[in-house]
Amino acid sequence: MNIIMENITFKELNLREEIIRAIDELGFEEPTPIQKSAIPHMLAGKDIIGQAQTGTGKTAAFGMPVINNIDSDVKDPQALILAPTRELAIQVADELRKYGKHIRGAKTLAVYGGQPIERQIKALKAGVQIIVGTPGRLLDHIRRKTIKLGSIKTVILDEADQMLDMGFLEDIEDILKETPKDRQTVLFSATMPKEIERLARNYQRDPQKIKVVHEKLTVPSIEQYYFEVKAREKQEVLCRVLDMEKENLSVIFCRTKKGVDELVECLQSRGYFAEGIHGDLKQTQRDRVMKKFRDGTIEVLIATDVAARGIDVENVAMVINYDIPEDYEYYVHRIGRTGRAGKGGVAYTFVTAKQIRLLKSIEKYIKSRIIRKTIPTLNDLAERQRELFSQRIVKAIEEGHLGAYTAMIEQLAEEYSSIDIAAALAKIVMDKNRVDIDEEKGNSLENTGAKESGMVRLFLNIGSRDHIKVGDIVGAIANETKISGDSIGAIDMFDKYAFVELPADKAENAIKQMNKMRIKGKKIKVEPANGR
Ligand code: ADP
Ligand code: MG
Repeated sequence: MNIIMENITFKELNLREEIIRAIDELGFEEPTPIQKSAIPHMLAGKDIIGQAQTGTGKTAAFGMPVINNIDSDVKDPQALILAPTRELAIQVADELRKYGKHIRGAKTLAVYGGQPIERQIKALKAGVQIIVGTPGRLLDHIRRKTIKLGSIKTVILDEADQMLDMGFLEDIEDILKETPKDRQTVLFSATMPKEIERLARNYQRDPQKIKVVHEKLTVPSIEQYYFEVKAREKQEVLCRVLDMEKENLSVIFCRTKKGVDELVECLQSRGYFAEGIHGDLKQTQRDRVMKKFRDGTIEVLIATDVAARGIDVENVAMVINYDIPEDYEYYVHRIGRTGRAGKGGVAYTFVTAKQIRLLKSIEKYIKSRIIRKTIPTLNDLAERQRELFSQRIVKAIEEGHLGAYTAMIEQLAEEYSSIDIAAALAKIVMDKNRVDIDEEKGNSLENTGAKESGMVRLFLNIGSRDHIKVGDIVGAIANETKISGDSIGAIDMFDKYAFVELPADKAENAIKQMNKMRIKGKKIKVEPANGR
């Protein structure tokens, strides 16, 4: 039975003093519901099957007790945590290190594919008590006997449903079979499909069932809206919404991999910094996309449910359900990608007339309202553009250094009202911006959005799908222009295009040279990037 305990504190959960101290330093006020119900069972060594959405604090729910129960005198691994992806394995290991920072002899290591195995073997030899890993790599270590399982007391499957979706069932079973029979087996999953129940039946003993569905750390701060759209209007509406909400980062969800690919293509061709992730991509490719998303090189991430689940990126201001999810729980997971770390967020769902009923049932399930919004009109967009422009003006005024311009305006003001002068200026600048996008000649070198000072950022119409690598671009520039390889700045590769940063004083010449050259036989077009 799941015991509900109100207002219980971390102290009352009987965790070691060192862990309580770490919790205080992290500023956690009280355990989350899943922590309240899981930690006592975890400490008692019971098997657990826990269902809770992302963001409910599952890592601490199993992580704190695991650290608590480590015997520091034993140098062999005592707990094994399985996670679906390298990214999540690293996240869990980081989180555990925070909770265990005042405890000596509770070392945590993450092992995953993609990293040289020798490096991991060396770290393992040094003595590690808690191992977090992806199933494939863990099994590899177990077969090489570089991970000894004799002292394992606890095995945890984190994000079990996602691991199954990714085809890890067999590896998981192989690992479980190799671990001591009297182990504690803990299973956490956002959803409970049949296969998970089967795993529980075969590998757990009298598991405690814990389910937390509605109480989340994050949901209350997310505003939820829907747009009623016709299927063929969806792309256009999406672009309008993206333009209206020029916020930090957005995640867009599609139901299928094909849908993701199509939308990536559509948005990239319209000039958005967008990329997609889905199950067909290799882990390294996904990591690359996630890194770009995290550091802001791309602003729009398009994903399937499976690929995006569990990924914790702060500053996601907007989630768009381009395709409405068919599973209610997916809806909650999806919108949970925004509003992380207590920040606000907004979620939009696209629904066709036929899907309104599905939306209403989601509303009922989540027990909160999803409010209808009208599709932004072109007028709304123009208005928004003016608003953004006003913000730029205010910023320029606040930054000062306007002396030279003030004199010019004062002169004009002898004949015209300052309002008219300013409005005329706005018209000139904003209309010019609009023309810029289509103009053959393109942008100036003034504002290219380079990350480094003294550099300009250039756009190249070739990318990784032309089988071009960073090295090819560096080589071509070094050979064909006066710029040496080591003064070339950041290069960002995308599917169909790339950006390269070059020293500002040499850029103009370099552009001329580069526009004459070919890379891997392909003629290229180079122009200053549009520094948005
Ligand atoms: P889940 O695995 O359920 O998706 P996490 O364990 O990753 O969730 O926790 C989500 C976030 O909440 C993390 O940043 C974590 O540090 C934070 N967190 C966990 N427990 C608490 C708590 N009791 N109080 C405040 N924040 C917490
Ligand atoms: Mg988690």
